[in-house]
Amino acid sequence: MSHYQKPPELYEGLRLHQNENTGGCSPRVIEALARLRRDEIGFYPPYAAANEAVATYLGVPADRITLTNGLDEGIMALAVTFLRAAIGGPQLEAIVPEPAFEIFHLDTAVAGGRVVQVMPHADFSFPLDEVLAAITPDTRVVFVTNPNNPTGVGTPLDAIRAIARRTPHGAIVFVDEAYAEFAGVSFIPELDAFPNVVVGRTFSKAFGLAGLRIGCLVGAPATLDPVRHAVPVYSVNVAAVVAVRAALADLDYLHDYLRQVDESKALLYAACDRLGLAYVTSRSNFVLVRAGDRTDALVNGAFAKGIYLRDRSTEPGCAGSLRIATGIVEHTRRAIAVMEEVLCDVR
Ligand code: PMP
Repeated sequence: MSHYQKPPELYEGLRLHQNENTGGCSPRVIEALARLRRDEIGFYPPYAAANEAVATYLGVPADRITLTNGLDEGIMALAVTFLRAAIGGPQLEAIVPEPAFEIFHLDTAVAGGRVVQVMPHADFSFPLDEVLAAITPDTRVVFVTNPNNPTGVGTPLDAIRAIARRTPHGAIVFVDEAYAEFAGVSFIPELDAFPNVVVGRTFSKAFGLAGLRIGCLVGAPATLDPVRHAVPVYSVNVAAVVAVRAALADLDYLHDYLRQVDESKALLYAACDRLGLAYVTSRSNFVLVRAGDRTDALVNGAFAKGIYLRDRSTEPGCAGSLRIATGIVEHTRRAIAVMEEVLCDVR
């Protein structure tokens, strides 16, 4: 079984290594949490209002949504539901186009399934033909991330449609849209036409709620029904329920962050051009920088100055690459200044 290397617990410096909103959540969330009453904490949480708010935000009826304790929990529930083999039956397969979020591997293994890796193109364009060729009668989940992590590259909706048309009966395409707000593209409007597709969303990234753990799965009620049984009944806590409603009532805060992400990416691209560093143009709130043999120096040098970047060199197709969150402009400027210092010292 693969072991997930949880990033070390670093909270003193500037966290640009986990794609979080380093500006934190909307102040409205803190106000709402402060209004939580003792009895509300004493009771199991009610979900109807949060469910309704999330459904309205995503433009779907409330019965298409299952709230989860972070999208991580939703992915585990999908794996357990679709990848558990029947006794005496074949081992079931999950297709993972690489490089991908490592949790897909971990959850597939926990459920007893087998990962079928699809290796990336040099430019990280979506390997549609290779994914289609990897589908077998035992395929039960195809993991697609749009935009992808750690590359930030978008996945064409046409590719998702093509995969959904080819997957065997009883299989699903999971479209992980953890970073969809940044790209402004979603498969959700197509779910009625594709009942074998499940979309995952999170409030950890664009909404800055990672510490409270709330996400959701979106799909046809009949498809989600078995998955709902694999999600513990009260897994989303009352603070997360209150927080998500407050966050969704303050979309100006979201839009300001999205604007800063665009500005941050433009600043980082310009800095990379000046420093002679290649990068992958991103549709997300992070950028994969192709620093080659300067990767170690950058990651370690920034770390020494309290700025955390994520070395992604061991991921397929990512040799000599680091990932850096590009959110709050002031934080991006600090990171760029440190990158410039480190590379000056290296020369
Ligand atoms: N999917 C992807 C692609 C991610 O990058 C992440 C977070 N790193 C998640 C899912 C999980 O998000 P959450 O915090 O909601 O569990």
